[in-house]
Amino acid sequence: MKEPQNGHFWETKSLAEMTPKEWESLCDGCGRCCLYKLEDEDSGDILQTNVVCRFLDLSNCRCTTYPRRHKRVPTCVLLSPDKIAGLKWIPESCAYRLLAEGKELPDWHPLLSGDPESVYRAGVSVRGWSISESEIDMDRLEDYVVDPSDDER
Ligand code: SF4
Ligand code: SF4
Repeated sequence: MKEPQNGHFWETKSLAEMTPKEWESLCDGCGRCCLYKLEDEDSGDILQTNVVCRFLDLSNCRCTTYPRRHKRVPTCVLLSPDKIAGLKWIPESCAYRLLAEGKELPDWHPLLSGDPESVYRAGVSVRGWSISESEIDMDRLEDYVVDPSDDER
């Protein structure tokens, strides 16, 4: 059990102690974990693309097959408290990663702002600069590698 700050569940419980509903509410809906990544064969670095899974609804950045996501996309990783620390491609803005690293949620997080659009306004959402895999030739995925440090991403 953590020391209470403002009494929010994410400040008083560890990730492993959360109910399924609390756990799910931590996802800010940025859609970044649904972006395709490539691994550099030489360096092992993870390269980010701006191509998202075909099941991501780009209007609200939510998965359209969430209950069946792992069956339909075997590479779709089901996040859990014990997996977070080992996933180096999870974005720094992701609430699961922030909490696993002992950090606070940012004020644009919907649990604090009360508005899912605050994720988009903060520039964290993939909405506006990503493209669905159904729109491109996936054999040319390298053409869609982007620099994640760009202001827009
Ligand atoms: S990166 Fe984290 S917060 Fe963003 S959609 Fe994925 S799980 Fe949710
Ligand atoms: S199946 Fe859903 S959660 Fe998994 S990568 Fe695709 S859109 Fe994201």
